[in-house]
Amino acid sequence: MATAISGPRVLLRQLREVMAEPLGPQSRLDKIVNLIAENMRADVCSFYVLRDDSALELFATHGLKAESVHMTTLRLGEGLVGLIAAEAEPLSLENAPAHPAFAYRPETGEDPFKAFLGVPVLRAGQTLGVLVVQNRDARIYGEDEIEAMLTTATILAEMVATSDFDSLIKPGSDIDLRRPRTFTGASFTDGVAVGTVVLHDPRVVVTNFIADDTDTETKRLEKALRTMRVSIDDMLNHGDMQPSSDHRDILETYRMFANDRGWVDRLNEAIRNGLTAEAAVERVQNDTRARMQRQTDPYIRDRLHDLDDLANRLLRVLTGDHQALRQKELPENAILVARNMGPAELLEYDRTRLRAIVLEEGGSTAHVAIIARSLGLVAVGQADSIVSMSEPGDTIIVDGAGGTVHLRPTPEVEQTYMDKVRLSAKRRAHFAELRDKPSVTRDGVSVILLHNSGLVADLHMLDETGAEGVGLFRTELQFMIASKLPRLSEQVELYAEAMRLAGDRPIVFRLLDIGGDKVIPYMRSTVEENPAMGWRSLRLALDRPGLLRTQVRALLIAAKGRALKILVPMVTEASEFRQTRLVVRKELERLARAGEPVPEKLELGAMIEVPSLLFELDHLLPEADFVSIGSNDLVQFLTASDRANPRVSRNYDPIALPRLRAFRHIVDAARRYGVPLTMCGELAGKPIEALALMSIGMTRLSMGPPSIGPIKEMVLGLELEPIRRSVAAALSDGSDGVGIRELLLEWAARQNLPV
Ligand code: PEP
Ligand code: MG
Repeated sequence: MATAISGPRVLLRQLREVMAEPLGPQSRLDKIVNLIAENMRADVCSFYVLRDDSALELFATHGLKAESVHMTTLRLGEGLVGLIAAEAEPLSLENAPAHPAFAYRPETGEDPFKAFLGVPVLRAGQTLGVLVVQNRDARIYGEDEIEAMLTTATILAEMVATSDFDSLIKPGSDIDLRRPRTFTGASFTDGVAVGTVVLHDPRVVVTNFIADDTDTETKRLEKALRTMRVSIDDMLNHGDMQPSSDHRDILETYRMFANDRGWVDRLNEAIRNGLTAEAAVERVQNDTRARMQRQTDPYIRDRLHDLDDLANRLLRVLTGDHQALRQKELPENAILVARNMGPAELLEYDRTRLRAIVLEEGGSTAHVAIIARSLGLVAVGQADSIVSMSEPGDTIIVDGAGGTVHLRPTPEVEQTYMDKVRLSAKRRAHFAELRDKPSVTRDGVSVILLHNSGLVADLHMLDETGAEGVGLFRTELQFMIASKLPRLSEQVELYAEAMRLAGDRPIVFRLLDIGGDKVIPYMRSTVEENPAMGWRSLRLALDRPGLLRTQVRALLIAAKGRALKILVPMVTEASEFRQTRLVVRKELERLARAGEPVPEKLELGAMIEVPSLLFELDHLLPEADFVSIGSNDLVQFLTASDRANPRVSRNYDPIALPRLRAFRHIVDAARRYGVPLTMCGELAGKPIEALALMSIGMTRLSMGPPSIGPIKEMVLGLELEPIRRSVAAALSDGSDGVGIRELLLEWAARQNLPV
């Protein structure tokens, strides 16, 4: 068996010299294939580039007929070259013409060559082309040679990504890397945004690929691996870490990979072949990403994601790029692209420049989605693999309603969307016209529309939408964007400003609902196995009443004698509501003793979002001044499906009969006790869902400000009574044969409602 003459290290050094020469792109490629052929003792070396029309174009060859360059093409999946590109895997054959996928191209004159070795040219897991060597005689290429070819392909990938091949490629085509791509994800908001990609976790850019000295690079890798392992161990040994938690699982997985011999061996091998330590990480990471993109098993995908994250960590150690990488300086019309992010991370960005967010994960009732809505951003989730396909600065269009994302759109698509943007501006103008109309159905039912809000800065939107007030002010959001715990005086100022902006309109302040995915960065939090069901919200407030007392005091002072509404989150038992009332009463007495003005009317309401409370309404309702359903949590707990995990939550329609029966149970009880009831979960802002709620008698709906216009438009065109009867029949007849959603869609079509 023949082996390479001088080894890949010499080849890489020669390649570096060619890269530095002042050559045109074709001459450079010609030199490169000659060098590879010589070094690999191959009779042929060919380089194919994947075009945006999914054809692989022969860009350079040593050994095949020169006239076939830029003439010969193979479709993705066609022939051996097409197969390698489609599967992103190397292929080594002793006798290529005998392979069933072999596609003969007479113009190349490749008939005499038997042995064949092809490798994909990958960048960030994407196939950019294929590199092939062939030999006249049947032979088996060794593992070393395959690895050497993969190493060389890493350099070629960088060249494809950074060179100007426009003059070489078939006129009208482009390389595939810049191909427009469309992703279909889940809609988190309506609206259309056109802007520029900003990666939430920017990739580390490797600029130095070819090693000067292999020993130095091996030592650098060893040192970086040691540093990384120590930092993972430190995190794992951190005092707060619970013995079993998601965070711990991820770190354990990191530790496993960081010590995995196979992974480390592959990194070392890439260095031995002449790459720098960081280029070696990228070379091995390419394989992971390519596998990730083709993997359908969710568990394996997650593990590959973990390995990818680990490789990024290692790259950061190697390049000294450890700092928080958040790029807070945003371009105009920035569109954030991320695998996932927490609500606090989103709030760190400059909101005046941000238009949209696109996530690979996330559910529509996850807090990051709620915050995106309250900021008026367009948002799409579950856009599979978008992070690795995006480059900072790419043009991107996010179509919220359809959950569609167009990356690097064609001019036609961009034009269509510019028209859509204009159309949605028209729709906004139409909604603005509805602003002052009372929201009453055609058959005379008044429906009160309110905002869900959480930032003082959002409250000006009340004037734009004409909503009747704020049904839910999530006070914790202001805590999340602060850099330290707001003091009493700061809280007073904040609430007073919120009340000033609300003017005569009522505003319901919900007490701090922290914990779960709402993390306050400067507060110590314990890692729990099930944070959504853990020490959060009211539980935390009652156990550590200092924070609760300060907040209640601040609200009472800020009211300056005017009426005040306070809402208590996550009430699990009526007794907790009673305890909260005691805290409020004490603060009220304290204020009165100090001679300060007390609110002329103080109403205390309870959120109904924990299922157990549904069976204690007879105790709760006589004591509550008002109640509010938090459908996001209530549905998550009723169906035992994490609101932030679409894999489970999307299986359970929140308005299917069992859930609607639970809501109606609350509606009936609240009516019996004469207690005002509002829906403040995300359901109320979606037309069909809002219709379901109205049909069971809910007429106070609180929602993200952008939903007010569309819901009002529907209310104005609605004749509620026949729908109410039809839904009541479906609810009481006990059969699950009828789908409420389908029933309502039929009604909407019959009444020509905009849903
Ligand atoms: C809810 O749970 O529906 C709710 C309104 O509260 P949050 O989304 O803030 O948990
Ligand atoms: Mg809730």
